[in-house]
Amino acid sequence: MVTLVPVMTRTLTYRRTRGLGGWLLLTAFLGLFGAAGCATPGTYYERHEIPRLTVVFLDEQSLQDKWTLVTSKSPIMSSGVVVGLFDFRTQTIYCPKMDFEVCGHELHHAVLGRFHPED
Ligand SMILES: [Zn+2]
Repeated sequence: MVTLVPVMTRTLTYRRTRGLGGWLLLTAFLGLFGAAGCATPGTYYERHEIPRLTVVFLDEQSLQDKWTLVTSKSPIMSSGVVVGLFDFRTQTIYCPKMDFEVCGHELHHAVLGRFHPED
């Protein structure tokens, strides 16, 4: 049985450009709105519970090794290199620590399932 695993990739030419400016912006944002939550206009409210969710933070090489172990595929794909994954079988998110973009993406897979074409 083949288990499809949603994956987030980045193009191979992508280089992380977050620097001090990003942290300053985040700090300013938290200073303005507080760290307890973010208010948005409207009445949107959607609640999800994910029983037995596991999150594993790991480095890039370990993540790619995990990808290969779970899928038996290369971590280098036509859409880019694997940077995070959610394993439906074990209900586990694998992503880099403090990488809110990748971890948030995989969290959405945990909540919503498969939501993009390569799934
Ligand atoms: Zn994805």
